[in-house]
Amino acid sequence: MTINYDTLIELQKVLAQMFEIEDKIKDIPRDLNDKEAVLQKTKLDYLDLSNKCESLSAEVEDIYKRYIEAGQTKEAKEKQMELTTLSREYENLAQEIEQAKASEQNLLKVYNARKKYLEELQLKLQVSADIVASQTQEVEEETEKKDSLIAEQNQILEDIKGKKDELSKDLSKNLLFKFERIIRNKGGVGVVPIHGIICQGCHMELPQQFANDVRKDEDIHFCPYCSRILYYEPSEEDEKFDNAVHGDIHADEEEGAETASDFISSDDNLFED
Ligand SMILES: [Zn+2]
Repeated sequence: MTINYDTLIELQKVLAQMFEIEDKIKDIPRDLNDKEAVLQKTKLDYLDLSNKCESLSAEVEDIYKRYIEAGQTKEAKEKQMELTTLSREYENLAQEIEQAKASEQNLLKVYNARKKYLEELQLKLQVSADIVASQTQEVEEETEKKDSLIAEQNQILEDIKGKKDELSKDLSKNLLFKFERIIRNKGGVGVVPIHGIICQGCHMELPQQFANDVRKDEDIHFCPYCSRILYYEPSEEDEKFDNAVHGDIHADEEEGAETASDFISSDDNLFED
């Protein structure tokens, strides 16, 4: 199977674009999900504060009721005192009036303090309600936008997939799958040249026989170190490579099959490393 490496390099670009768009599409709802999570938290805070306000409001109401009752008790005792003629009863009433007065004053103090605190909380509650409202609006707007953003990116993806199908029509399903995985894992670069015996993807030295096979280009070769697809590209390293295999790379073609098998067997040990 021979491979058109120019097409493969073109396909590589298209696949990298495709993955970028796919990631983008995945990120669109992710941003929105984050905002929704924040909104949920804000709503919980609001609810918490609202419950606090409600119970504090009941407490303040209760204190006020007790304050009024203390005042009424005081007045009733004062009226009773006007009517009494017995000195002992008079003394008792005077004491009770003093107690009611003290209680009334104390309740008023507590009432004022708690009422002030309630007003602070109510102000906070209003701010919290405003935040909930603005975050809700933002989430609603982004939900609407999300659908059109995704549709837009899907349209771009559709076009890219068309290009991909065109460029990959001669590749087997298996090879295409492998190539896509390499590109995903290797930062968008899945097909690289060899210079001499060096893979230009990972810069590892390849076995000489293996490099020779890549150069012959009779089949597809994957780098044993970085898994990228390899192709031959003339370079300065070729001279070193040629010297290393004792002569011209095409010697086997010129001198016949006998030399070719000699050449291969002499390098067989390289595969056992
Ligand atoms: Zn490599």
